[in-house]
Amino acid sequence: MTVAVQVTDLHKSFGGTPVLRGVDLSVARGSVTCVIGPSGSGKSTLLRCLNHLEKPDRGEIEVDGVLVGYRRHRGKLYELKERAVAAQRASIGMVFQGFHLFGHLTVLQNVVEAPIGVLGLSRAAAEESARALIARVGLAGREDAYPRQLSGGQQQRVAIARALAMRPAVMLFDEPTSALDPELVGEVLEVMRDLAADGMTMVVVTHEIGFARSAADTVVFLDDGLVVESGPPEEVLDNPGHARTREFLARVR
Ligand code: ADP
Ligand code: MG
Repeated sequence: MTVAVQVTDLHKSFGGTPVLRGVDLSVARGSVTCVIGPSGSGKSTLLRCLNHLEKPDRGEIEVDGVLVGYRRHRGKLYELKERAVAAQRASIGMVFQGFHLFGHLTVLQNVVEAPIGVLGLSRAAAEESARALIARVGLAGREDAYPRQLSGGQQQRVAIARALAMRPAVMLFDEPTSALDPELVGEVLEVMRDLAADGMTMVVVTHEIGFARSAADTVVFLDDGLVVESGPPEEVLDNPGHARTREFLARVR
């Protein structure tokens, strides 16, 4: 097994309140890890640290063997400059609950913007790959639509295509279906399943226990800033070893 994401002893506080209290996590390349846990348990903070949108107080994160936000020199850690962090972020795709599309740009423009601006692709090359990605998320023919003309489920699928356009090594999803009307959840999960089947390494924060059961290789239960348990879905979801996991599952089912 090749490790795609390695988190070691991650700590993060906000204003003296510990939010992550020593998280360890290992994600195999090509695997799907679903992170579940109560509201406020630190799930978003964990994902944001993986992307260096938050700076950990302590601990290390490696994505594809590269230390996120830091470099090591003669055994010491040095913080990377913002430009270097931005370059690292390009290899980590992130999809948020609230889509975060550019409202004044079309679907196609949303998807090609970063590949042209950050990866330096030619417009022609970026558009060709963007059209393929837009088709892949089931939106062929909607390239020239604006986000407001799309349903939430369609917007989230554009957000996924946009993240994929950066050819990320890892995709992070933070409750990607939580803002959607129930009838639109399935189409987004379907795209995510398809990605997983295609071998994408994914870390998915979700309350969709059914998705976690069917798509996850590993389920991680986070509570109060700590990994309480992790393992295959049939263990963590169907035969949890900890009372806190059982209580949480009883509440979300
Ligand atoms: P979850 O995603 O599991 O609901 P979060 O990681 O969003 O949890 O938040 C965990 C805790 O950290 C919450 O109590 C939240 O209020 C707090 N928190 C998160 N981000 C910040 C921030 N930027 N500043 C202050 N507190 C924060
Ligand atoms: Mg959250």
